[in-house]
Amino acid sequence: MSERTDGPFLLDVMCGKLATMLRFCGYDAAYARDRGVQDDDALLELSCTENRTLVTRDVALADRTDDAVCLTERDTDDQLRELAAKGVEISLDPEPDHCGDCNGPVESVEPGEPTPDYAPSTEAFDIWRCRECGQHFWKGSHWTAVRDRLARI
Ligand SMILES: [Zn+2]
Repeated sequence: MSERTDGPFLLDVMCGKLATMLRFCGYDAAYARDRGVQDDDALLELSCTENRTLVTRDVALADRTDDAVCLTERDTDDQLRELAAKGVEISLDPEPDHCGDCNGPVESVEPGEPTPDYAPSTEAFDIWRCRECGQHFWKGSHWTAVRDRLARI
């Protein structure tokens, strides 16, 4: 196991839900399936070229690199506990840095800027927008649910 456990991370194909939760914790967490890599060699190459800690449940794959975290749990919350036990801080990022959907960088929407139909106005909430996929975020019920979920880890 690597001593550097503060990311950035590359999540193996089985760990997509974990990728989303790590983004809520403020980590740069790339997901193999989003990046179009599946086979072991491509995963190792991507983790190496982007200096990402590989997070996987595949023991044989983890053994092929010094910079991997090997998980045994299947449940996402249990995996978060496993990461916490390995020194990864698991707590909600007060300001979003990474899009939960695509891991893209997030920027603030300026007051008065228009927002899409599914999002509230900037008068009601602080709003953020993903610069990659355009998804808008605010601290609504979904954010509160994630906050409460992470607080139980
Ligand atoms: Zn996005």
